[in-house]
Amino acid sequence: MSGSDPENGARIDSGKSQPDADLVAGVPPSANDRLKAIRAHADQAMRYYATAFLRETDENRDVMQAYMGITANILALLDRDALDDHSMRNGREEIIQQYIEQARSDPYEPGNCSFCGERPVAAWFEGPSFRTFVRSSAEVRAEGAWLACAICLGLVGANDREGLVVRGVQRLRRRDRDEGRQRSPREEAWMRQMTRDQQEKLFWGPRQS
Ligand SMILES: [Zn+2]
Repeated sequence: MSGSDPENGARIDSGKSQPDADLVAGVPPSANDRLKAIRAHADQAMRYYATAFLRETDENRDVMQAYMGITANILALLDRDALDDHSMRNGREEIIQQYIEQARSDPYEPGNCSFCGERPVAAWFEGPSFRTFVRSSAEVRAEGAWLACAICLGLVGANDREGLVVRGVQRLRRRDRDEGRQRSPREEAWMRQMTRDQQEKLFWGPRQS
């Protein structure tokens, strides 16, 4: 899925903050927070690898298998009752099988809604005109795709462009809040206009032409 990149296109951020400054200013995560983050990352990676494994050719399956082994070791260490090598190896195989079973019935779908940034994605509008959509990333045949969550898909169906702008702005506000940034009313107005312009130019424009 290449093509237009609304994620970056809609970004208003000017400068990058200094990572060192963030570390000094913020409260460091607890050991438990770190374990949770490692677990969530490994879980998402396993879902992705297992789905890719089922969709790939034999050659690429070997690669996916190797990635799954590495990641499943980490999950085994996090979740199993024992920490020895034997337990890790047994756990790894069970974990890989569980994720492959899950991928068969509930495949991992990459990406976030191009309008609002939410997951899961419910529709992949195919470029260049974005007039039709498919229901899974595996079915995308076009060069570019515009992703939509279920709510934004409904708003597209209703041609509610202002509703989609509001959701796009909420996404920017969430990012501001996470990064502890305050916006003046002027900047807020500018964010709204930027979001509207981006959606018009990248999604609605190609749809009409
Ligand atoms: Zn959305």
